[in-house]
Amino acid sequence: MNMIRLTIDNQEVTTSKGLTILDAAKNAGITIPTLCYHERLNPIGSCRLCVVEVDGESEPVTACTTPVEDGMLVTTQSDLLFRLRQNALKLILANHPLDCPVCDKAGACMLQDLTFEYKITSIDCPAPKRNFIPSYQTTFIKHWPERCIVCQRCVNACKEVQCIGAIDVEKTEDGPQLTFNRDKCVSCGECVQVCPVGGMLEKKSSLRWRSWETTKIRTTCPYCGVGCQQLLHVKNGKIVQVTGVEDAEPNKGRLCVKGRYGFDFIYSEDRLKTPLIKENGQFREASWDEALDLITQKFTEIIAKHGPDALAGVSCARSINEDSYNMQKLFRAVIGTNNIDHCART
Ligand code: SF4
Ligand code: SF4
Ligand code: SF4
Repeated sequence: MNMIRLTIDNQEVTTSKGLTILDAAKNAGITIPTLCYHERLNPIGSCRLCVVEVDGESEPVTACTTPVEDGMLVTTQSDLLFRLRQNALKLILANHPLDCPVCDKAGACMLQDLTFEYKITSIDCPAPKRNFIPSYQTTFIKHWPERCIVCQRCVNACKEVQCIGAIDVEKTEDGPQLTFNRDKCVSCGECVQVCPVGGMLEKKSSLRWRSWETTKIRTTCPYCGVGCQQLLHVKNGKIVQVTGVEDAEPNKGRLCVKGRYGFDFIYSEDRLKTPLIKENGQFREASWDEALDLITQKFTEIIAKHGPDALAGVSCARSINEDSYNMQKLFRAVIGTNNIDHCART
């Protein structure tokens, strides 16, 4: 009852009422170019690249904001649409330095790809260089205003996805610009994750790798029990960046500041690499066999003197489920106490 039929590029499409033309086309495997659209965000309609022709409409409409209607006839590719999209891109590029050779986003930039796809080799009327206020930065993120196309993805992501609202758009005499509320920002990097160009970048990443140099390895974040899905970007055997996996539960691309930026410890010189035993107030390095023998001896002494309930165990949220299971088995079945807990429960 809630299904309707329309035709997109001569292809009959059956889809749910309430979807946009862009969603219906995507579900039917038809690609419409976009820049500001992001599937986790409400449609913005600012870039006007997704314009399509609809029979009966005097002007092309934006596919990301126009709902489907029964019997609609939609065209997504034509000479007119190519020209309109080319012009929309030229307007963006008039205020955008094509400094791709020194931009961290090169190789993973939607504007770079679209400039190529729409065969733009020159801009007819380059606008005068805008006079930007200094960019916003925290320990982990940096706003690069010259490369920002004010698509507003980051604004909506910060508001709708993170429920923080630390970014806004302000009208200035130099055109619209982003403003940031430092007191609200938690450096989660969601704005970096959704930015289609090099407007929002990781501060530490500056010119350390190119996107095509890294191998992407999917894993589960080790920090807490939520189990967020991550992509580790690895160059020469070292993790250089972490991003959220967009289409995976439970996080759908989101990560907290620890999950996204807290991986430096892996390569820290201060990491413990062997067990340490404290003797006469000083730690000394020990083998695992020596350390485990000492623990067994101490546990046996405590149980003999005070009973098994004198011992308690707290397993770590960074452990895998199997290790937590073994930990409670050790305490219940071997030591003989139910004093066992998990730090993520509190
Ligand atoms: S944001 Fe994209 S188009 Fe702009 S300089 Fe960087 S790579 Fe090039
Ligand atoms: S920083 Fe990126 S996501 Fe935010 S408005 Fe600029 S281009 Fe869009
Ligand atoms: S880092 Fe997170 S909180 Fe800060 S501006 Fe970006 S999305 Fe908002």
